[in-house]
Amino acid sequence: MTDMTERFGAHEGDGIVRCDACPVLCRIRPGKSGACDRYANVDGNLVRVDPVVILQKSEHAVPFMGADWSGNPLRPQDLFVTGIGAGTTYPDYKPAPFIVSSLVEGVDMVTVVTEGIFSYCGVKVKIDTDRYLGPETATVRAQGEAVGHVTTSEYGSQMLSLGGVHHLTGGSKKEGRVTCDALMDLSNCKPVELAIDGGATVVVQAGRPPIVNGATEERMRVGCGSATIGMFAKQWHGKVDEVVVVDDHITGVLSEHQAGKLLDIADTGIKMKGRRSTPGRYFQVAQPGTGWGGTNISDPLSILGPFDPKEARPGTRMLMVSTTGEHAGYYVLDKALRPIEQDMPADLKLSVERIQENCEPALCTVLFMAGAGGSLRAGVTENPVRLTRSVRDAITRVTSGGAPVYVWPGGGITYMVDVTTMPDNSFGYVPTPAIVGPIEFTMRRADYIGLGGHEGFIRPVETIRGVERVKTIPWTPAHPWPLTPQVGAGR
Ligand code: SF4
Repeated sequence: MTDMTERFGAHEGDGIVRCDACPVLCRIRPGKSGACDRYANVDGNLVRVDPVVILQKSEHAVPFMGADWSGNPLRPQDLFVTGIGAGTTYPDYKPAPFIVSSLVEGVDMVTVVTEGIFSYCGVKVKIDTDRYLGPETATVRAQGEAVGHVTTSEYGSQMLSLGGVHHLTGGSKKEGRVTCDALMDLSNCKPVELAIDGGATVVVQAGRPPIVNGATEERMRVGCGSATIGMFAKQWHGKVDEVVVVDDHITGVLSEHQAGKLLDIADTGIKMKGRRSTPGRYFQVAQPGTGWGGTNISDPLSILGPFDPKEARPGTRMLMVSTTGEHAGYYVLDKALRPIEQDMPADLKLSVERIQENCEPALCTVLFMAGAGGSLRAGVTENPVRLTRSVRDAITRVTSGGAPVYVWPGGGITYMVDVTTMPDNSFGYVPTPAIVGPIEFTMRRADYIGLGGHEGFIRPVETIRGVERVKTIPWTPAHPWPLTPQVGAGR
């Protein structure tokens, strides 16, 4: 049996093969590959260059070597064919390159495997840092080209939204190409340098710490300034009279905060700059930046007004600390009620270290997001909307390279996947430009037939041994085994 993808491609004169796996329709000379390097002309045949990646559940991996494989102890239900290297269905009405069946827990399961060509796709990037990367909606650039924007920040993280059809197709040719390159590299867990208009430069790599303006971020903050006061108030009680946790969003002040009130901490006469939200919680004490607590300050005293002489007393001890514990200072009021920096007592140093200890490592997270609710559904079924409904009803499981995905509620099949859970180099591209990513739909055979699937193309997974280009890798036990029948299927 030959690879299904080799059925495609048109033969022209002089041994040239026309690849029809995407709209570019490359004419490929013998021994050469097409524009995306994914297809080549091998002895006059159009061949998908990369191997099809198969996940193997067995604890003791046994080589599964394509044509040479002739019956090792592997059980069919322990093999999962991913879309990586599978080939595409373009121009869409063709059945998916692999539609394989296996018996799992007594249930006849079918997996429909393809590589999606995604013009509608992008990545959502979470960057664990308090440092200010740039204003919301600011343009994010790679190699000088606009590839996305800053979106709303989350708890301890700055968020970017990159790619999307607007940048892939709506700008210049270079913008589309650079966007495609950036998306592919980020999705393949490679580092990409991004520059934000009016903000910072950040090197993003999935699963690695961000590098902001050349400095590697170590810690994600323990919480906002107010939360930090709440968490550590008791540990500070009796060791210091006042604590200010500096935060660009919500700066906390111990003596005014509810946590301090419940501990009977006396007023200190402190006066904060910024806008008081509720007792002991202040907004906008400074401008955003890459200094203390995501503000632009390097001197924490700059966010204080003069102490109130009616309440303040000389000798008042004050700790100022950032939300990661990266910055900290200890001050004592002099006779003129001016805070004077002094060496920090050992027990307060310990409390700063406790803040640091409670910070998680700062990482970049890259979620690939794409719409699979369009034409690629025709490779699965002749009645595409039934696939959409089947996914929505949890009858069909969607995976990407065998990794679990989150499918958005509502119309279409819009999914997100953490790229670090996928096999290496799962993503490719075509120069239209668009990203090529693996996608698999798994369901009971009866359901597949019921939704109008290409029944005549189903073949037992064991027949994959006839495919020459196969690479078997171990399944990650932390993930659900993608062949397990869906709980929600109810049949
Ligand atoms: S870009 Fe790649 S997939 Fe598209 S036609 Fe050329 S070789 Fe085929």
